[in-house]
Amino acid sequence: MYDKNNVFAKILRGEIPCDKIYEDKFVLAFKDINPQTRVHVLLIPKGFYKDMNDFSDHGTKEEIAAFLNAIVKVVDILGIKNQGYRCINNNGNDGGQEVPHLHFHILGGQKVGKMVSKN
Ligand code: AMP
Repeated sequence: MYDKNNVFAKILRGEIPCDKIYEDKFVLAFKDINPQTRVHVLLIPKGFYKDMNDFSDHGTKEEIAAFLNAIVKVVDILGIKNQGYRCINNNGNDGGQEVPHLHFHILGGQKVGKMVSKN
């Protein structure tokens, strides 16, 4: 079940601010409050989906296409489209998801290191 009190739901409702990078009918992208790389932006759907499973089960084709297309729009705006970047989706408990609203991390502006840590 989706928790309407999570921090990204509050951002979407305008209850708390964000440092916005891009917005359209279906998505919002904003800077991560605790950046792990020089560029660290979060992309979220405006629909209230908990994670990838929820989005796959209940998202419309239009929402899913818009979300995927927004990744490249955002990296273009950020100026890292050609030099490379990493998208991470932490999903559920084993995936280490902390905020229960679907989000992709877009990381770049430098070499982002190994794909996963071993611990
Ligand atoms: P995850 O562990 O994948 O759920 O990532 C959650 C991310 O949300 C972390 O990288 C946090 O730094 C980030 N975060 C939490 N609260 C905010 C906020 N108010 N604005 C921007 N980013 C946030």
